[in-house]
Amino acid sequence: MALPVPQSTSVTTATSSSSNFPSTSPRKIKISCSQLRFSETKQAHLRLMDAFKGNSALQVKALRESQGLTQEIINNEQKCVQIMDNESELFKEMKHRFLTFKKDKYLENLEHFQNLAKVQKPKFMVIACADSRVCPSSILGFQPGEAFIVRNVANLVPPYENGPSETNAALEFSVNSLEVENILVVGHSCCGGIRALMSMEDNKNSSSFIENWVRIGKPAKLISTKATATASDLNFDQQCRHCEKVSINQSLLNLLTYPWIEEKVANGKLSVHGGYYDFVDCTFEKWSLNYKGSESKEEGEYSIKDREFWC
Ligand SMILES: [Zn+2]
Repeated sequence: MALPVPQSTSVTTATSSSSNFPSTSPRKIKISCSQLRFSETKQAHLRLMDAFKGNSALQVKALRESQGLTQEIINNEQKCVQIMDNESELFKEMKHRFLTFKKDKYLENLEHFQNLAKVQKPKFMVIACADSRVCPSSILGFQPGEAFIVRNVANLVPPYENGPSETNAALEFSVNSLEVENILVVGHSCCGGIRALMSMEDNKNSSSFIENWVRIGKPAKLISTKATATASDLNFDQQCRHCEKVSINQSLLNLLTYPWIEEKVANGKLSVHGGYYDFVDCTFEKWSLNYKGSESKEEGEYSIKDREFWC
């Protein structure tokens, strides 16, 4: 289906309406806008000079101003060309990567990928941070079909009572339809989302989408602040690091607030795990929630098992 075309780009899109998506290409829009502005300026320049015929002072002023405007447009055009060159290089590289994947992976394992085209049966549901340095497929080697992944700011799982979000929509599909066997929440070092949580004023209304999202991690912040309060020599970075790990466990507990998750965990059909990727020294810590061991604990407390440190 063709994408909707903004009115302001009609100059470009009129020539490319026959294809499906190039009509809204930012590159074409930039070129046409720039060309349009340049042509309009030239016409305005001519009209001004015409209007001031016989008044030499006004003519000189109009000439100077229009020359300045022309120079500004030329500069903008040069900047546009540079941006387009960079974009073109980025997509050239992307195309190369895709074609390499197709040749070396897809076509080499054609039967596997054709089966995968019919059905997916991932063993993992992964919730990771949107941070560009924390790609689960790269660091944990998930291949297509192996993990259903949702990424959000600070890898948070909202509790059931918070209502719908894209994270719990992905959970519902992966747990109830795909019947994954494992949910893995992956946190990481130097998390900007956790830093935002630790920095924000808790009781202040905010219009920031980030603050309103990371607020989900407030219980982890409280636990973390309380735990680090006695260690007065911990600086803010260390407190954030502590919270990065506590919030993973908070997310594991939040997973259990979904009745259809808790039921499967209680029946042993689903396991929930935490992971912490430290990209400063490239280590990975992995653990699992001990559901049975957590049953006798107070609300908000948990027991973990199978802790491993990969370095
Ligand atoms: Zn993060």
